[in-house]
Amino acid sequence: MTSWQGRNVTVAGLGVSGLSAARALAGLGAAVTVVDGGDGETHRARAAELAATGIAVRLGDAETLPEGTDLVVTSPGWKPASPLFAAAAAAGVDVVGDVEIAWRLRGPDAAPWLAITGTNGKTTTTRMLASILAAAGLRTAAVGNIGTPIVDVVLEGDDAYDVLAVELSSYQLHWAPSLRAHSAAVLNLAPDHLDWHGSMEAYAADKGRVYEGNQVACVYNVADKATEDLVREADVEEGCRAVGFTLTAPAPSQLGIVDGILVDRAFVPDRQKQAQELAEVSDVKPPAPHNIANALAAAGLARAFGVAPTAVRDGLRAFRPDAHRMEHVADVDGVAYIDDSKATNTHAAEASLAAYESVVWIAGGLAKGATFDELVDKSAGCLKAVVLIGADRALIREALARHAPEVPVVDLDRTDTGAMSEAVRQAARLARPGDTVLMAPACASMDMFTNYNKRGDAFAAAVRELGASA
Ligand code: ADP
Repeated sequence: MTSWQGRNVTVAGLGVSGLSAARALAGLGAAVTVVDGGDGETHRARAAELAATGIAVRLGDAETLPEGTDLVVTSPGWKPASPLFAAAAAAGVDVVGDVEIAWRLRGPDAAPWLAITGTNGKTTTTRMLASILAAAGLRTAAVGNIGTPIVDVVLEGDDAYDVLAVELSSYQLHWAPSLRAHSAAVLNLAPDHLDWHGSMEAYAADKGRVYEGNQVACVYNVADKATEDLVREADVEEGCRAVGFTLTAPAPSQLGIVDGILVDRAFVPDRQKQAQELAEVSDVKPPAPHNIANALAAAGLARAFGVAPTAVRDGLRAFRPDAHRMEHVADVDGVAYIDDSKATNTHAAEASLAAYESVVWIAGGLAKGATFDELVDKSAGCLKAVVLIGADRALIREALARHAPEVPVVDLDRTDTGAMSEAVRQAARLARPGDTVLMAPACASMDMFTNYNKRGDAFAAAVRELGASA
């Protein structure tokens, strides 16, 4: 473990992860300064709170490096090109994130990490994995880009956990150079956050860091070759294996599906012959294809850690999806209303649409530079009608005109928060018994709502209103 006594650490940003790192390092004797470009009332209140604990705060200047800094700890929102990091590089000072700090704070007997990244499905898979590990009687927690800040969990001590299920974003991986997981999975790779990373290559390379130094298994998606390429490029410990997951029958060294059963052909005594049954597809909630893939990835990591097949089954059965992820809100007049507000990019919305046959789709919001042609082209077959809301809805409307001209589109031309209940009413008018109304916007929410949770809540409230008047 590094000694922090007397080190001068600058923390970039007054956010949750930055603060947890700041407090932890100050507690270990480092001299900590938090810098933040803002200096509004909330910032000042927080700064006063921190000052009382001996942490210095510099507000209104996020660009220059405080004198004497020997390490910078960054927060997820800060782009690599931020002037503060250029100043750090010029001064020969390392920049790291909270995950790197947590990694460095682990003791010699700390719990191993099973790490999960990918463009979509991280949170779901991490929670599934934690549920499986708990079913195996292991003391575990889902941490990282989820729940309690990872630094706080590590500070509970080496004895507190047997193993951690760690969700990692591409930002966190970018700033965590010495992280070495027991095993790791990249679920999928699609363009996202390219404004932060600068290019698809840079984004993929950051995701691929999760495999570096893996000890037991690198779990990849057989249907997404880019994930397999990342395994090939990684420098892993001797004996570490590439383990694929697939929605079809698995080859040796893979997990997959045979006759509605999740099976393992990787962690079995004779990989050529045996397939170990793990669980039924109906044990996975919801049993949509992309979610079964998530379950297989979680199972792969658990099996790499030596978890028994029955615990995989029990853990999957006990798992409950988080809110706003393909959440079934209600049935009204024979129509199912599904809240997938967390589908904030086209790759997620495509997976979601693929799970239903006849959909009235509510979409739109902030496109974040995305294009919608591929999504609409691939999903046209299941679309019965579309209701568009939000700032960038024209991009989706134009893609629909190109690839699904026969699908009726209602363009609400609204970006106020009340637009969601109007969208639900319009969708109800277009749907028939047996159809699904799916709110999977393929866009971020910040044009109309504070975040995707609020957007999902607005949808659920509108559906309840509809149910009450039905
Ligand atoms: P993340 O933590 O990566 O954002 P979540 O588990 O919160 O992922 O799921 C986000 C959204 O992505 C879900 O609402 C769902 O629409 C979609 N999704 C989940 N798993 C997958 C997957 N394996 N492939 C594609 N889309 C997925």
